[in-house]
Amino acid sequence: MKEQLSYLIELQKFDLIIGRIIFKKGELPEKIVQMDEGFAVLSKSVEEGKKKFEELNKLQGEKEDKLKKGVDTLKKTKDRLLEVKTNKEYQAMLKEIETVENKNSEIEDEIISGLDQIDNMRAEVRAKEKDFETRRSQYEKEKEKIEKEISQLDRDLQDTEKKTDALRKQIRDELLKRYETIKGRRNGVAVALVWKEVCGGCHMNIPPQMYIELQRSSELLTCPNCNRIVYWYNQSEKDA
Ligand SMILES: [Zn+2]
Repeated sequence: MKEQLSYLIELQKFDLIIGRIIFKKGELPEKIVQMDEGFAVLSKSVEEGKKKFEELNKLQGEKEDKLKKGVDTLKKTKDRLLEVKTNKEYQAMLKEIETVENKNSEIEDEIISGLDQIDNMRAEVRAKEKDFETRRSQYEKEKEKIEKEISQLDRDLQDTEKKTDALRKQIRDELLKRYETIKGRRNGVAVALVWKEVCGGCHMNIPPQMYIELQRSSELLTCPNCNRIVYWYNQSEKDA
């Protein structure tokens, strides 16, 4: 019976390890999803910044074309001034020239303020891109690390499962069944150490008589409170 108990203790140890591995394995892909989402948001913001910058440049180009045309018109109008014969016509032409000049200077002002805007935006886009590159390399490194961690966990899981399979073969059927049933009902812990009359599974006291029995007997005993299979070994020897 002592041997069976020691197998159960081992099995419990490995089953807890398996539980932790599975829990961790479940968390990691979620972490990658969150990272992917954060990265996609950042990437979109960089793209939007670039697009805005391109639009601003395009608008600026259109204004420059408009100004070029305005300057042409002004030149042609001034040329026509030389051919004017009457004073009335001359006054009308001057008025036209003034209008074109005003419009051109308006466009010029717009172009100048557009230049400032473009400079600012260019700096903003560059800073964003730089930040993006830094974060991308961080993201890629972190992702690689997590993926490695997942494959390590897979290997650990396989190894530990092999160990538990071997142990299960050593344990008597009805005992194994009992172990699995308690494990299922008691949060994955079916075997608990009792020390100083306290059950390590439920942290309740066990009767003193039973504590003595536990130290002497080779029978399998269960905690009267949580029904876990309990065992004892000298903890002070272990600490010493
Ligand atoms: Zn208990």
